[in-house]
Amino acid sequence: MEFVAETIADLSPSLTLSITSQAKAMREEGIDVCSFGAGEPDFDTPQHIKAAAIEALQDGQTKYTAVAGVAALRKGIAKKLREDNHINYEPEQIVVNCGAKHSCFNAILACCDAGDEVIIPSPYWTSYPEMVRAVGAEPVFVETRQENDWKMTAEEFDNAMSGSTKMVIVNSPNNPTGAVYTKEELTAIGEVAASEDILILSDEIYEKITYDDTEHHSIGSLSDEIRNLTITINGFSKAYSMTGWRLGYTAAPQEIADAIDTIQSHSTSNPTTFAQYGAIAALAGEHSEIIDMVSEYDIRRQYMLNRIQAIGNVSTIEPKGAFYFLVNIEKTGIKSVNFAEKLLSRMQVATVPGIAFGHDQSIRLSYATSLPIIKEGLDRFEEFCKAH
Ligand SMILES: *Cc1c(COP(=O)(O)O)cnc(C)c1O
Repeated sequence: MEFVAETIADLSPSLTLSITSQAKAMREEGIDVCSFGAGEPDFDTPQHIKAAAIEALQDGQTKYTAVAGVAALRKGIAKKLREDNHINYEPEQIVVNCGAKHSCFNAILACCDAGDEVIIPSPYWTSYPEMVRAVGAEPVFVETRQENDWKMTAEEFDNAMSGSTKMVIVNSPNNPTGAVYTKEELTAIGEVAASEDILILSDEIYEKITYDDTEHHSIGSLSDEIRNLTITINGFSKAYSMTGWRLGYTAAPQEIADAIDTIQSHSTSNPTTFAQYGAIAALAGEHSEIIDMVSEYDIRRQYMLNRIQAIGNVSTIEPKGAFYFLVNIEKTGIKSVNFAEKLLSRMQVATVPGIAFGHDQSIRLSYATSLPIIKEGLDRFEEFCKAH
């Protein structure tokens, strides 16, 4: 007898997490590793958010809440979505989840049956295809091009559709490419989805992290028709450096929100109670920390862009959001896992191989790390690239 279910046995563990832990282990042995592997901010959670959670804990907020989260938080999220994102959702349409990763998983589980197809632009965030497979549905990849800043066009989306298409995943700002879709691009994609009644899962976890005059747009805000097909997902991890708090949220058409509530009532129940009180403070507070954090990321981004472009046999786009560079290593002739392993063992530089994102001719460098580490790491990276 096979102990593990067939759908699950075929899944692979998160490669992004495994490389980071390998680098961590090396560092614990005293090896001087420069890590570009981080998938989380290197800043601490702002003090007022921590204080609110501590206060809640001391006030006895230590019991279950409603499955979908405390009313004040759902109200705060509805207000945020109305003001920042120009989408009107009732608090009843919002479910607070245990991280935006959990939000994505719940949404896919709530909407996709075995045999349904989910369109995923590639390179993609490593977890989407495995989530889709975990529920017995099928990921359908749209290969995007570096020349088009790794963005899926409406036409490419349209061409990937079949009679079984149930959902399309949009992630802007994007992990791993740093691409940010314009309003026009999102409108075109939304209109294609609307023409065939395809659900749109919009993962907006990096919305606060954009550069220059780049604006984030929520696809659900672009028309009522599009909003009625859109599941807007966001969370606290990236904007407020709250990865360990495990808090994300989903805003969706009522029947989908209800289905997610039901799933959650039989799985995790509510997200951690006192953490939710921290999140209320995060939304209510002033956002100067976010601005400071983004300007710090921007300094690193510009430094890295210049350095990477000067290397010669590798290339990249200028990321407009998030905190990653997807570096094209095609000219070195080395595949991504091999490249990342050699880079780690020979130069003590940790990266994530592009295969984790469906693109084997690239590696991902995160700049959620300090400038001195970035400088030293890029010196080593350059030396390695020039030798290949
Ligand atoms: C980090 C990340 C998430 C999830 O973050 P949580 O910590 O689960 O809230 C979701 N989507 C993308 C693209 C991410 O990079």
